[in-house]
Amino acid sequence: MVQPINIKSLIRQHLSEIEIYDSVESPEDLALKAGISKDQIIKLNGNENPYGGSPKAIEAVANSDFHIYPDPGQKEMRKSLSQYTGADPDEIVVGAGADELIDLIFRLFLSPGEKILDCEPTFGMYSFCARIAGGSVSYVQRDARFEIDVKAVRAAVDSSTKIIFITSPNNPTGNLASKEQIVEILRMGLLVVVDEAYYEFSGQTVQNLVKDHQNLIVLRTMSKWAGLAGLRVGYGITNPVIASHLMDIKPPYNVNVAAESALISSLEDAEYLLSNVEKIKSERERLYGILKNIVGVDPWPSQGNYILCEFQNNQALRIYNELASRGIFVRNFRSDRLINCFRIAIGKPEDSDAFVKVISEIL
Ligand code: PMP
Repeated sequence: MVQPINIKSLIRQHLSEIEIYDSVESPEDLALKAGISKDQIIKLNGNENPYGGSPKAIEAVANSDFHIYPDPGQKEMRKSLSQYTGADPDEIVVGAGADELIDLIFRLFLSPGEKILDCEPTFGMYSFCARIAGGSVSYVQRDARFEIDVKAVRAAVDSSTKIIFITSPNNPTGNLASKEQIVEILRMGLLVVVDEAYYEFSGQTVQNLVKDHQNLIVLRTMSKWAGLAGLRVGYGITNPVIASHLMDIKPPYNVNVAAESALISSLEDAEYLLSNVEKIKSERERLYGILKNIVGVDPWPSQGNYILCEFQNNQALRIYNELASRGIFVRNFRSDRLINCFRIAIGKPEDSDAFVKVISEIL
């Protein structure tokens, strides 16, 4: 008789009971929850672009050569991104979303037992990937205004700390890290990843520090401003030594041909996409102004395509549930600091209006 195998015992120990990433639910699941059809839901939980991708990108995707593997050297994409960003092609690496680059950075730099440093509250992928890599996370709390506490960052660094993550604008709080803060953190001599996923909405970058700081990686994505979240394409800008090592260890065909064509065509159509970014920014300011005038909710100023809303009297969960029951989905959080908050992505004006109507009724 074949001996039964305890498959679980074969799984690497640190992964056998991992805390999973709290990802956003799919439109199908959300529709099911609200008991309505997929096209009726108002999906404001993923910081997605309400105007979709560029029509030119959509056309380019349809005409991609699906039967041919993508270029492992990413020559065309790196050339286009070089023109768009001003960085040299050999300073650029493209990934299946910025998420893949986060994972690749861990593969390149973090050995089991080493630590990363996260400025909480922030984007959950860094700590998730650190745990997958067998590393651990030092959490440094941001201050009452969600600003990075550079002194506390310095105090938290020890001999096993390898990477410091700075998100700017920060997700979900919406505020930027200043250039001075980032320079001070770069001087600590560890690897510093500055995640600028929402750069086009803020217009502020530290990309120009890459040439003088070998320990800096700037991350960007096409998911938000260019509306390509579903195609998964993001990139990193860093010195050529790190870039070439990331290129060496990435899966050879990591960015598929559809995403590759979409990236190139989107950059050719940047003017159109940036006009949508302007629409989203002005809608962000309009929604912020409305929320500011509703008693019981405090919106946080944001440089991204989302607003963190903080509620008084423990109303966040009640409003979240009420919104969900009407097919409006926002993003809530489990951490103590954000228990009275949720984050709403900026959609079209009619999406904000539907959201505001529910909030006004309840508060
Ligand atoms: N960084 C931040 C701060 C984000 O909010 C996100 C997406 N939510 C990402 C990176 C990942 O982006 P991508 O879709 O390119 O994987």
